[in-house]
Amino acid sequence: MRCESVAEDWEHIWSCDDNEKSEYEILIDTLVATEEKFKDLDEERHKIVRTLAKEIVDFMITPSNILIIGSQLRIRELTRGIFNNELYKLVIKNQNDKCWKKFGKVAI
Ligand SMILES: [Zn+2]
Repeated sequence: MRCESVAEDWEHIWSCDDNEKSEYEILIDTLVATEEKFKDLDEERHKIVRTLAKEIVDFMITPSNILIIGSQLRIRELTRGIFNNELYKLVIKNQNDKCWKKFGKVAI
């Protein structure tokens, strides 16, 4: 349903008070669903999934150094489509892990 209180630009789509869920809640739901999907993996792999999920959340709730107007968090960088090298390195770090490679194959 469209909100008619203000112009519906990309920014407003993510911040509208009429949204059923915030972008943070969507992130958490996605990570929980992903963890659930891989709950049957062996403990070592499941630990990697949980650790990465926690690192992603920690990253996302950190104040953005780029979006300085309105004290935005890094999660807004993501929904704006801004490339963040720290997030990239976080994923690459895990991709270089032998176990993560196996997990990646399972995930695909
Ligand atoms: Zn709205």
